[in-house]
Amino acid sequence: MMIVKPTSAPTSSPPAAAPVSRTGSVLSYAMAAAGGTSSQPTSTPQPHGKKAPAPSTAGKSKKTKPPATRLAALAAGCQPTVQAVEANRKHAITPALEAVVEANTLLSGLGFESGGVAAAHAIHNGLTAVNNSILHTKLHGEKVAFGVICQLILDGAPTSELDRYIGLMHSVGLPITFADLGIPKPTEEELRLIAKVACLPHETIWALDIPINEDIVYNTIIGADAAGCDYLKRMQRYSKL
Ligand SMILES: [Zn+2]
Repeated sequence: MMIVKPTSAPTSSPPAAAPVSRTGSVLSYAMAAAGGTSSQPTSTPQPHGKKAPAPSTAGKSKKTKPPATRLAALAAGCQPTVQAVEANRKHAITPALEAVVEANTLLSGLGFESGGVAAAHAIHNGLTAVNNSILHTKLHGEKVAFGVICQLILDGAPTSELDRYIGLMHSVGLPITFADLGIPKPTEEELRLIAKVACLPHETIWALDIPINEDIVYNTIIGADAAGCDYLKRMQRYSKL
């Protein structure tokens, strides 16, 4: 049975800065990650010099990438730029914004063809089952963003990898904790409901090639909030130095 790894104990090192892709190269990264052509894939910033965590390949041929792994590669190569988000806030159409829009359009098709965004989307669906008026004001993408953290936890991503995603999400105002989602203290019953809905037979979470059950997902959701809280604590500690 898979054990959800807790995030590492806070260290003196600061969290990774949010990765910022080069303007206009977002689609190139996405194409490269998807197996298409690109002349720029190797220039993707890797703050810790690490690539996305390798998937579990126990008992499986390494030649066949599971859909969820492909999605993770796409996501890692297509992180929107802070520049594009800031332009969007000012309603300014810039090359960075257009690149991110184009990449998102590509990924919306590739993502669902490849695995339905796996746990990230399934946990979003679970979140919609919680009866909380504040949570229901959150956008679809905001809930999926928290689901992305959950999926990284499920995959056993190291803290350095979590920090890359969480840092980016936090920098653009996406939720990284229960509090950000408007449910600072969810009950066990609510969390188990999220896990139950996320694990319904038709759900995309089954696209993952790792052990999944309601209890694993329940613990994963708690682990995702813990990772977000840990990131914020380290950010605060670092900012006081
Ligand atoms: Zn969606």
